[in-house]
This record gives sequence, C-alpha cells and structure tokens, in this order.
Amino acid sequence: MLNATLSELSAALAARKLSSVELTQLCLERIAQLNGELNAFITVDAARSLSDARRADARRAKGEAGPLTGIPIAHKDIFCTRDLLTTCGSRMLANFVSPYDAHVIEQFDRAGAVLLGKCNMDEFAMGSSSETSHFGPVRNPWGRRLVPGGSSGGAAAAVAARMAPAATGTDTGGSIRQPAALSGICGLKPTYGVVSRYGMVAFASSLDQGGPLAKSAADLAAMMNVMAGFDARDSTSLERPKEDYGRSLNRDLRGLRIGLPREYFGDGIDPGVRNAVEEATRWFESQGARGVQIELPHTKLAVPVYYVIAPAEASSNLSRFDGVRYGHRAKEYSDLTDMYCRTRAEGFGAEVKLRILVGTYVLSHGYYDAYYLQAQKIRRLIARDFAAAFERCDVIMGPTSPGTAFELGAKSDDPVQMYLGDIFTVPAPLAGLPALSVPCGFDGKGLPVGLQLMGSYFSEAALLGIAHRYQQATDWHLRVPNDTPL
Ligand code: GLN
Repeated sequence: MLNATLSELSAALAARKLSSVELTQLCLERIAQLNGELNAFITVDAARSLSDARRADARRAKGEAGPLTGIPIAHKDIFCTRDLLTTCGSRMLANFVSPYDAHVIEQFDRAGAVLLGKCNMDEFAMGSSSETSHFGPVRNPWGRRLVPGGSSGGAAAAVAARMAPAATGTDTGGSIRQPAALSGICGLKPTYGVVSRYGMVAFASSLDQGGPLAKSAADLAAMMNVMAGFDARDSTSLERPKEDYGRSLNRDLRGLRIGLPREYFGDGIDPGVRNAVEEATRWFESQGARGVQIELPHTKLAVPVYYVIAPAEASSNLSRFDGVRYGHRAKEYSDLTDMYCRTRAEGFGAEVKLRILVGTYVLSHGYYDAYYLQAQKIRRLIARDFAAAFERCDVIMGPTSPGTAFELGAKSDDPVQMYLGDIFTVPAPLAGLPALSVPCGFDGKGLPVGLQLMGSYFSEAALLGIAHRYQQATDWHLRVPNDTPL
C-alpha cells in the first residue's frame, strides 16, 4: 500500500478495501520507524491526523468523497497551519502557531485530505540541501550520508521513503524540482500565480510558488487539482477558469518538438546525469517526438541574477521578524534597538543572515543600479530567451540538476559551489514559467537522476501529460530507495 499511487489509494478507499484511518495509521507507523534517522518531519500530530482521517471516512460514508478524500498529505513547514506549529525551519519561528491556515492548507482540508505532518526544510527555504534547518539536516532515503536536496528536502524524503503518499513544497529557485530529482521522485513548480501564496511564509515574493511532490506525474495532476485556483488574498494570484490538470495525461507524443538547450548539455554536468537525460530524450524521439537544438544564451547569468534578486526580496520580507510582532524575542536587551539586534542575531541562522546582508547591500543607495537594476534587466532577457525558444519547440528538456545527491557537509563551506548547482532550476522561476522534474534513471553510484521539462505559461497539463507517457513506459518513478526498503 505504501508504494501505491494516489489514484490507486483513491480506488482502494472507494472500494472500501481500506479506510482512511487505516491508511493514516500505516503512514504514521512508517514515520515512527524512519523519521528518527531521516528527520523529514518537524511536526507530526498523530491525534490530529487520525481525527482528520475519521472525518474523511465519515464523509465517504455519506457519499461525498472526492479524489483526495482520506489521503494523508505532508506539508512543507512553510505553509501556515492553525493549531499546529509552523517553523519554516527556523529558530525564529520555533514556537510559532499561526492564527490562520494557508490557502493551500484550506484547499486540502476542503478536499477532505488528511494533514499528515509538517516537513523539515532549509531555514526560510534558503538552500539546496536541507542542511540549514534549525531542526537539523534531512537525510536522503537513497543513502543516509547524503542530502535529499533542498529546500523542500523533508517533503521529498517523506515521499521517497514512502512515509507520505504525496507532499506540498515551494519553489523559489528550484526547491521543489531539485529535491525531487535528488530523492528520485516527481515535483512540479507551476506558472507563477497559479497557486496562492497566502499563508506561505515569504522568501522572495516575485519568485515563490507552491507546488506538489509525488511519485508520478498523474499524482502531481491530482495534487494540482486541489492546490491551484484563484485566491483574492494573494494579489498576484491569477484569476483563471478552473482547469483539470489531468486532462492531457494520454496525449500523443508524435510530432512533439523537444527543445534541447545547448547550455544544458555542456561542461560541468556529471556524466551519469547526462547519460540518463540523453537516454530519456532518445526514448521520446523513439515515440515520434523530434529533438530541436535550441539556445538559451543567458543561462550562465541566471545564478548571479537569482542570487541578487532573491536575497534583495528576502531582506525586505524578513524585516518583519523583529521580535515585536511574532516569533522569537531575545530574553535580555538594553533598549529597543538592542532587542532587534539580539533577536535577529539569535533567531536567524548563518545562511539567512548572509542573504539578508547581500540583499540589503544590493538594494542600498549607490549599489542599487549596479546590482539590483542590472539583475532585473537580465531577468527580462532570460524570459525573452524562453519566449524565443518556445517559437521553435513545445517543451524544453534537460537535467534538473548538474549532479546527483551529495554528501552532507560537502558544500556547506562553499556557498558558491552550492549556488551553482541551481543553474538549471533558477531560470524557470525568473521567467515565471512552469517546470517539472521526473526521475529518469540512475548515475554510476546508483543515485537517482531528474529530467526537467519546462513549458510555456500555463502548460502544466501538457507537461504532466508528456511525463505521464514516459512513466507508462518506464518504472524509474516507482523504484523504492535501498536505504528504506518497504
Ligand atoms: N537553492 C535556491 C536558494 O537557495 C532555491 C531555494 C528555493 O527554491 N526556495 O535560494
């Protein structure tokens, strides 16, 4: 059961082969067995989960069940939950209980899903390894000495180790797709504005976007059907008609034009990653799709641009954590300024402080034009690269990450090394585009490789359809990690 997809679980619940209470119990047992080592969850409240499950079973008995009713879902600890901690992986919010639910949480509640727990993450979603959490690093189910990727690493590890059937995450510069790739599961970053940011702790507001992590593309579609939708409380939420993200799951691949960016297959990519990705693109060609060589000439500027814009927005967003309104407050201080200083010195970890300093610097008088304004201009050029590319192809394929999961601590002393790993994931959010990562094989060390699919605005359903066809012919996405056998 723990390796079942959402539609299989849904069918089992509908056929009364299993109750939501039983399924939730199975997940809670698996968490109890594995979380001590993997550290994927920060908060699990079994009593609450089981009460959600009982409500779901009652709803089903009345004939009012939807596709996700009774299914346990894990949430990244960046989504505010009423009556349950929301820490964002930070000491600053270690004891924070939100007075309201995030829009995404409300949507799952309305669908009758069970809240399984809150997942560990890089502090304030800043990182690519899930090592910067105040609650300790997350470990990869494919090898305990390895990182699961980040920042939604707890969510990815929870799904990969089959502790949760699916999870939510957020992606600012890759935090859904990169951990999905490094942990051997699927993850989708939707078009900016498709999922409401209401109640999602803000990192870089022009980039942040919630999305699902799951075992298959079809499961991501089922999750999107619940998560997406207009919400007046997020001023950048898009008012569009409701769509069925599973509507293209059986699309034909014949004639599909696959853009292969020269910049995504160049130097600096692990041979194991390149081989697996090339093999996947060849499979698509064998199905009648056509590979088209394209260029995304500003790719190498995406990391520097992202690491100016994201910290700039973060420095502004994180100014609210001042010890006055909510979160941590220093115990001892002499006056108000001293209270601010001590609170922030104690509450934030090193990576968050680094970003606040960088962000404040690039926004300051005298540097704004040189850094922030320049970055905004190049951001536009990156979006134009994609617009030009989508004249020539329907989907862009390449690696999600240049490498596979690395050892804990391997990049901790070298932020630039860590940031360079984001080369293929930061362009899509900079342009606001949807992008998906699906497993496409293993490298020489037996570690999972992610294939990234990027499409034009609102092409989520098409991307999921293309990935679904691939998953009907391959079983990479159903492999269970060696370190956490079922
Ligand atoms: N790795 C990137 C960063 O550290 C992206 C994080 C994210 O998408 N939240 O900022």
